[in-house]
Amino acid sequence: MKNLSLLVTLSVCLCMPSRKKACFAFVPKVSLSGHTTRHQPVKQFVSFLDEVDDEMFDKFDKDDNGTIDREEFRAIAKKMRKDNSRREVISVATAMASSIFVVTQSNTFQFGQKNLRPFYLEENAELAQNRLFPTALLSGDLDKAIVKTLGPRGFTPENTLFGHSVCSDEVNNKKEQLIPLLVNRWQEGFSLGGLGGLPFAGKSGFGAYLHHVPDNGKLFIIFAPHVGIGPDGKVGALQRDGQSAVSTACGAAIGAYKALQARKKDAAAPDPLPILEDVKSEDTDQFDPQLNQIVKLLAPRLGGIELSEDSIAFVTYQMYGIIRTLINECITLTPDTFDNASEVALLGGIIINRRKGGDFFQPLSFETRRKDEAPVDLFREAFGDRPNLASVLGSEEALTRASIKINDSA
Ligand SMILES: [Zn+2]
Repeated sequence: MKNLSLLVTLSVCLCMPSRKKACFAFVPKVSLSGHTTRHQPVKQFVSFLDEVDDEMFDKFDKDDNGTIDREEFRAIAKKMRKDNSRREVISVATAMASSIFVVTQSNTFQFGQKNLRPFYLEENAELAQNRLFPTALLSGDLDKAIVKTLGPRGFTPENTLFGHSVCSDEVNNKKEQLIPLLVNRWQEGFSLGGLGGLPFAGKSGFGAYLHHVPDNGKLFIIFAPHVGIGPDGKVGALQRDGQSAVSTACGAAIGAYKALQARKKDAAAPDPLPILEDVKSEDTDQFDPQLNQIVKLLAPRLGGIELSEDSIAFVTYQMYGIIRTLINECITLTPDTFDNASEVALLGGIIINRRKGGDFFQPLSFETRRKDEAPVDLFREAFGDRPNLASVLGSEEALTRASIKINDSA
């Protein structure tokens, strides 16, 4: 009956944005700090408010007194009716649902994302994802798998410095999605990545990251290109919050691919690559050192793309191969890596951005490395069988080039 008092306190009937009136059978005064709770033990309040989303609380606590009163709660309902943004609807709706059903959930958005999926699933996007990224996990499930695998090996937020190499795109930095979740889990995060997810911080950036590790501590690095899947199942497309038009994701990877196609098109030789429409000159005309570097590194990796199931998925897997090679070089070519860090855990994969239902992560490699020891492969322990991507990429050669293991003996 632990939830009963919360149930009584928050018997909220919150109408959805399309309804004319928001109705509520609630409004006690609640305290963020827990100092002035009239009805609840402090512990329950802190637990509940963790779930309700601190950012939303701050946003609607207009007078900044650490409480949400009747007027402020009405502002929440008004805001929900006015702008039906994915994040706020899910956050608030789930927070309200969880106050009744699952107050023990540590993260309401992750809970809602997983358990309310049947209500907002985009069938074609789901089918495309299952075909091209067959063992992708929700961000929250990936977070749990990481903790379950690295925790017993002694990785803790206190002794581990988290680093990430993912694309600068804001879609990868939404509060509920993977990188913010992991930064929250590991308490801080060093950003190594630039456009496309390549570690443009370079060897100097990696050196800085390395030298910030706690004494005798460990590094945990996640690296990934990203790709959107639109509601119709189109790979490389993403409808973003606040935009009616669909844009590309990853814009940098697809931009580089288009630039390569444009060069082929201009050349006398026939073009063996599938041509995308709307090749824009600004992709390459402007000052653009990161994109130019991506074009250069991607160019020799496109062989066999015509055999793949989807050219943008193929490009994304090759981007993974590029990033993995660069991260590996940062580690192996930095002479004092293991003088500063006792162990380095490396997790690689592909972030899949979805308009609805939350982002996913297709894991492709997970290992730890220690000084003078062979790397320990953690993939099977963390994620089970490796995905079979032979038909997705179209050839074994393309898999090898992308540094994707075909099986555990490879
Ligand atoms: Zn991107």
